Amino acid sequence: MLFEQLGLIEPILKALKKEGYTTPTPIQEQSIPVVLKGKDILGLAQTGTGKTAAFAIPMLQLLHQELRNSKGYKHTRGLILTPTRELAIQISESFEAYGRYTGITHEVIYGGVSQHTQTLALRNGTDILIATPGRLLDLMNQGYVHLDHLQMFVLDEADRMLDMGFIHDVKRVIRELPKQKQTLLFSATMPPAIAELAGSLLQQPVRVEV
Ligand code: AMP
Repeated sequence: MLFEQLGLIEPILKALKKEGYTTPTPIQEQSIPVVLKGKDILGLAQTGTGKTAAFAIPMLQLLHQELRNSKGYKHTRGLILTPTRELAIQISESFEAYGRYTGITHEVIYGGVSQHTQTLALRNGTDILIATPGRLLDLMNQGYVHLDHLQMFVLDEADRMLDMGFIHDVKRVIRELPKQKQTLLFSATMPPAIAELAGSLLQQPVRVEV
């Protein structure tokens, strides 16, 4: 299987070529076509399997294909919640790499640093926001982030969110999201609390496991 066979658009294929990627990993092969069809995903996969590209590539494609105003404020249409600053930065680098020819913008926000640079970066809006839960809630409460136009939501490393004590913040964020959206949940393990969250969050999800 090659990336060319997954129905990807030229700007993304070009970026993958530039990265030196030719073959999708198993999680990418399973997830990309499903996400492109607009379906929810329950993904059981660890870091190192290529799961970031498994959600980033189809997200970039769906948001790129949809008509939008190219001028003025960009509403956040995609959100990725991830537990740590390191993961947030890594995910942001992946969007940079795969999205370089799409014109889709992304910003990253995380705690432990001054919020000033982050709120400045958000002032014209962004298509995709990559965030850790605590800082996202802070910025939402202060009115810097609005998620009422959200179309795609990724909950990354859900089990680690639980282990790190972030699950309540995650649920607070979820309560603020539009009901109608596409959701992709990734977790390495499926403890009861995550299975329960997945049950309430996902609509007829396709289960993907590697
Ligand atoms: P991840 O599991 O998303 O953290 O990705 C693990 C590593 O694999 C990252 O360094 C990616 O750059 C790399 N990678 C992801 N997908 C592919 C692919 N299809 N071909 C080659 N390398 C990949």
